[in-house]
Amino acid sequence: MITCRPGGVSAAPYDSFNLSVHVGDDAAAVEVNRRRLEQAVGLSRGAMGWMHQIHGDQVSVIGSVPPTQPPDCDALVTRTVGVALAVLVADCVPVLLADPEAGVVGAAHAGREGVRRHVVARAVEAMVELGANPRRVDVLLGPAICGRCYELSQDLADRVESAAPGGATRTRTGAPGLDLRAALAGELGRLGVVNVVSDPRCTAEDPTLFSYRRDGVTGRQAAVIWLT
Ligand SMILES: [Zn+2]
Repeated sequence: MITCRPGGVSAAPYDSFNLSVHVGDDAAAVEVNRRRLEQAVGLSRGAMGWMHQIHGDQVSVIGSVPPTQPPDCDALVTRTVGVALAVLVADCVPVLLADPEAGVVGAAHAGREGVRRHVVARAVEAMVELGANPRRVDVLLGPAICGRCYELSQDLADRVESAAPGGATRTRTGAPGLDLRAALAGELGRLGVVNVVSDPRCTAEDPTLFSYRRDGVTGRQAAVIWLT
């Protein structure tokens, strides 16, 4: 499941379904929004696993109950039915992974640094340790800034491209750009993950999604995965 901007109680500039406690929004509003998300997913209170995302490559394995203090990491994996994994984004790629046969799911946060540090490969490896097979893993690359909108310096673009080839673009103004989802699809293919679907939406172009590039101070949408 991927959330969008409408449907929450947060005031501007976090209007309205902001799910992050780290962007300056009123904590009580975020709590109401998170409770709404739990109810929409059909979870009991406290069954949503959140991360304190740090643009790294660490993966946390969630057991029977998500920790009350979100771990410092950028990917979560679990085999526990009824526990949901959530990743928060506003331009970075939310990556949801599932091997239904093994009963293993994962969620990763892959922005420029996450792509360069191979956070999604680390998540796949952690899933394999729990019994997943890359050939059976289904992946959704969620809404993110697209390669025509995501401008960055040539130096940064080159660094990401050399670490994870396949994402280098030119933006619509002709500047160096990066298509994060193309880079991730390339990396997943090299890992043997072939079932990859990309949500076509660009966060910077779609006003129903939060975009840090477009708006600066803003909220975060969530991508959520769980085993039933
Ligand atoms: Zn775009």
